[in-house]
Amino acid sequence: MQIIKTIAGVRDFISTKKGQKRIGYVPTMGALHLGHMQLIDSARLESEIVVCSIFVNPTQFNKAKDLENYPVDLANDIKKLEDAGCDMLFIPEVNDMYPYQAGIKFIFKQYDTLLEGAFRPGHFSGVGLVVSKFFNIIQPDTAYFGQKDLQQYFIIKQLQLDLFFPVSIKLVPTVRESDGLAMSSRNRLLSDQERKDAVKFYQALQLGAQLIEEHQDLNKVRDRIHHHFDRDTTVSLEYFEIVSFHTFTPIKTYHGEPIALCISGYVGSTRLIDNIVLGENNHPTINKLYASPSQVS
Ligand code: AMP
Repeated sequence: MQIIKTIAGVRDFISTKKGQKRIGYVPTMGALHLGHMQLIDSARLESEIVVCSIFVNPTQFNKAKDLENYPVDLANDIKKLEDAGCDMLFIPEVNDMYPYQAGIKFIFKQYDTLLEGAFRPGHFSGVGLVVSKFFNIIQPDTAYFGQKDLQQYFIIKQLQLDLFFPVSIKLVPTVRESDGLAMSSRNRLLSDQERKDAVKFYQALQLGAQLIEEHQDLNKVRDRIHHHFDRDTTVSLEYFEIVSFHTFTPIKTYHGEPIALCISGYVGSTRLIDNIVLGENNHPTINKLYASPSQVS
């Protein structure tokens, strides 16, 4: 695996491959786990050249402390990527990606006031900015994003559509620990007790799904989940929402169409997010969105 630290170095590498070989790209912030590796595996299956970036992007953090505490584990990350057959790892410094304070901000009209957008002001602008920079530098044919950050997938799709990025965007299903907790770099920040409590968000999603499948009124489901967390002092809920998988807007009723149940909250001082999708089998195009070793034909 080639490790490249400069934008010029990446451009040189890409210029020798572009057009002849398909380039699959996986953007990450490092502290890699099996969720990230699933993205790499998906890229490997569909592309001759697999590129990963590790960059803890300051512009997407709305809290300084969160950025400061973000886990870093570069030596192990390199080993994992080498073992997974990644061809090139790009690890720029902040000064390379932001040589001066950026002069643009993104507004994602449909998404900025919802869920992650509402609770993390400026977050999606930072994501949009850094992903645009990476797309321009790496020029991937396909880029892979995890379902765990489902709203992020929607803003990346918007970016690609609005700015005509010639890249196809693939979604990769969430990889979970054996108890159901979605894998996340932030799980490393949890104490043993917090790690046990963290699974409550996934359990709440499952309870929500069960209630919806029992045809309960969606507002009652929302109330029930909120109430569930009101009585629990070990974790705190930030939002629980049921959204359309097509528009990512909250829905009032459910008729079997694809929807996502989304949740975020804190275990101690660590913020976690998760979601599950219901009804995807009722919609043939949804499974085509996914790229994963088991689903790529
Ligand atoms: P991050 O390093 O947290 O910015 O994540 C980099 C990419 O990995 C994003 O597209 C995430 O959605 C994806 N990702 C993170 N956790 C998981 C997971 N548990 N399963 C699948 N993809 C994930």
